[in-house]
Amino acid sequence: MFGQMMNTPLLISSLLVHAEKAHSRGEIVSRNPEGGIHRYTYADAARRARKLANALSTLGVQPQDRVATLAWNTHRHYELYYAVSGSGAILHTLNPRLFPEQIVYILNHAENSVLFVDAQFLPLIEKLKDQLPLLRHIVVMTPADKLPASSLPLISYEALLDAADDQYQWPEFDENTAATLCYTSGTTGHPKGVLYSHRSTVIHAMAAMAKDALGIGNASALLPVVPMFHVNAWGVPYAATAAGAKLVLPGAGMDGASLYELIDAESVDLLLGVPTVWQGLLQYCDKEDLMLEPVCDVVIGGSAAPISMIKAFHEKHDAFVIHAWGMTELSPIGTVNCRTQAMLEMEDDERFRLQAKQGRPVFGVDIRIVDDQGNAKPHDGVAFGRLQVKGPWIASGYYKQEGGKEWQDGWFDTGDVATIDEQGYMAIVDRAKDVIKSGGEWISSIDVENIAVGHPAVAECAVVGVPHPKWDERPLLLVVTRPDATLTKEEMLAFLDGKIAKWWMPDDVLFVDSLPHTPTGKLLKRQLRDEYQGVYQ
Ligand code: AMP
Repeated sequence: MFGQMMNTPLLISSLLVHAEKAHSRGEIVSRNPEGGIHRYTYADAARRARKLANALSTLGVQPQDRVATLAWNTHRHYELYYAVSGSGAILHTLNPRLFPEQIVYILNHAENSVLFVDAQFLPLIEKLKDQLPLLRHIVVMTPADKLPASSLPLISYEALLDAADDQYQWPEFDENTAATLCYTSGTTGHPKGVLYSHRSTVIHAMAAMAKDALGIGNASALLPVVPMFHVNAWGVPYAATAAGAKLVLPGAGMDGASLYELIDAESVDLLLGVPTVWQGLLQYCDKEDLMLEPVCDVVIGGSAAPISMIKAFHEKHDAFVIHAWGMTELSPIGTVNCRTQAMLEMEDDERFRLQAKQGRPVFGVDIRIVDDQGNAKPHDGVAFGRLQVKGPWIASGYYKQEGGKEWQDGWFDTGDVATIDEQGYMAIVDRAKDVIKSGGEWISSIDVENIAVGHPAVAECAVVGVPHPKWDERPLLLVVTRPDATLTKEEMLAFLDGKIAKWWMPDDVLFVDSLPHTPTGKLLKRQLRDEYQGVYQ
């Protein structure tokens, strides 16, 4: 016997329809790439999204066509989130930081015929256009009078909207229909497409809103610095809409000064982004002697949040760090380290140590750790294993690719190595390929990095395993110092002494000007391993 409830499909358009009815005055504030701040309401956004949906059909976009965007976090990108998916097409967000050959591969692989692009990225497309035979329309996300001169035929986003009708009925279809596409770039091979459905996106948004997840409510004013081209900005544009929260979009201004200005002017209480962005904001606040007065919570994910950062937010800004872990394949939320009563009763140092863990799975995500043979390992906070996950917003395959070694027995193998303790807290030890194997034992490069970056003279650092004649591999610490700071190898090692096991101590410390990163801002350790492979020989 089935339950007797309505089978209303979970569609992305329903989030905006809801916001227009229930939160019509809720605000969306956006820093315009062409300058100035744009401010409007969910009702205004809904009207413009309907116009855009009509405009898409005049461009010949059909249901399930992939429509590409190459854009910052702006109100226009937000409108595309709803107009493209809502009309039944697939929003394909591209990361402008990818290598040009990856952009060509992805646009052709996804067979994109329409591209919406911020003017800043147009020169890149002009250079690549000859390799993009399927691309028919390039819409520049700007008013007609700001349309740049170009060798290519261009359409102005605002002109397109001006000409469109605002009457549009969002179509109803199966909630399992594909809605958005985002490619994940590993360090080897071609990028792989993750194809989210309407259902997975809406369920993920509902989970993300929960108090113990990202905690997005109607009274929130949130600033997703995580880009809308990377895993749908962690689903925030959907969750904020469902809640009717004030959504503040930073445009291209990701530096400390621009972020501070928005936070202060818009009374932002919830920040979301990766550690490197917060490093810049914290340094700016230190230099200018400023406090992030309105901020209550800072969600940090994408890379490990070091204890020094958790501490700086608490001590200098009275803000609580919510450490979260996820992946493109997970929409992305997997685990969240939310406030608990026990945590609030802890001494600061004990709480910081707990906050440095990546947290517990949110309801909807199941996690486990296994050995290389797939046998489950104990959740005792000590045993390391490959982290595997399952749940309704986790990919079951890659776009245009059948099966895949990442999926076994209904679990997705994340490629991360982690511990899980008795209370369910997961801690990332490393990417499986970055773990350092020394004399048959494992060393967590992330743990050593997190402690080293706590030294006041260190701006950024990386620990990699380098071949060693006796121990197979030994850790090497590479350090970028802060401007004007001085640091010696001996001082660095003395700082680590007592904070990590003796045999985890890097055999050498090298000072470098900068470290290489992937297009999503993670350390490119493979390149470092190649570059420094001979140092212990
Ligand atoms: P992406 O798919 O580009 O978002 O990258 C996902 C990967 O980022 C994960 O598999 C982890 O290796 C890493 N990652 C994400 N969040 C965290 C975190 N809080 N701590 C450590 N690593 C993280």
